[in-house]
Amino acid sequence: MNVFLINAHAEPKSFNGAMFHTAIDTFRSAGHTVQDSDLYEMKFNPVSDRRNFTTVKNPEFFKQQIEEMHATEVGGFAPDIETELRKLETCDLMIWQFPLWWFGLPGILKGWVDRVFAMGRTYGGERFYENGVFNGKRALLSVTTGGPEAVYQKGGWNGDIHAILRPVQRGVLHFTGWDVLAPNIVYAPVRISDGERQASLKAWQTRLNIIGREQPIDVGEY
Ligand SMILES: Cc1cc2nc3c(=O)[nH]c(=O)nc-3n(C[C@H](O)[C@H](O)[C@H](O)COP(=O)(O)OP(=O)(O)OC[C@H]3O[C@@H](n4cnc5c(N)ncnc54)[C@H](O)[C@@H]3O)c2cc1C
Repeated sequence: MNVFLINAHAEPKSFNGAMFHTAIDTFRSAGHTVQDSDLYEMKFNPVSDRRNFTTVKNPEFFKQQIEEMHATEVGGFAPDIETELRKLETCDLMIWQFPLWWFGLPGILKGWVDRVFAMGRTYGGERFYENGVFNGKRALLSVTTGGPEAVYQKGGWNGDIHAILRPVQRGVLHFTGWDVLAPNIVYAPVRISDGERQASLKAWQTRLNIIGREQPIDVGEY
């Protein structure tokens, strides 16, 4: 497999950093090709504007999707976007490693999506969902939370974690054609014991070693 791993945590020694490096080591040891985007380390610019492009379709009025369609036609994406697009296009499996922030993605990862998932290149025309650009590829969210599992149940204090992840799993991944694998959620790594954290890392390694056999989930509707 060609695996693309994205990390959205600023601290290399964080638990997210440990999950990210566990994934890199596990896939490399198994002989897979690994591409990665460690977004903070790259100082990835998450602000979406004309800097996404080397080309200009309309200099009078900036409309991102119009510029994306034009850049798709003429090869006009800025080098940082083009590099990320090629990682998306060449991988078989993509994993996002991130802490849950405000029930969503950290800004740097949201900005990566806003800039890289460009109209024309990653969706558009008739290419959505089951006919999406990335059909046949698989994607997985690897998430940590501050709150424990008990508060992330349906009807619970924070509610159903799967409903919280649905805008990303359905609105970004499935929308652009990815088959979505079950999210890997480590609840409250700050609150659990060191032994439990080690066990979570081991379970992650075990899962990744057999991930080729996993079937996609139904991401659900609204
Ligand atoms: C802006 C913001 C918004 C947030 N919004 C939410 C929210 O909506 N919902 C929610 O639930 N939470 C929220 N949080 C909390 C956040 O999700 C958690 O703090 C985060 O998920 C914890 O992961 P971490 O990697 O940062 O943990 P860390 O604090 O980095 O790690 C936890 C512990 O693991 C240890 N560790 C690191 N590596 C290893 C290793 N190899 N083996 C064993 N132990 C190791 C670390 O030393 C540390 O003691 C928010 C936080 C912020 C800053």
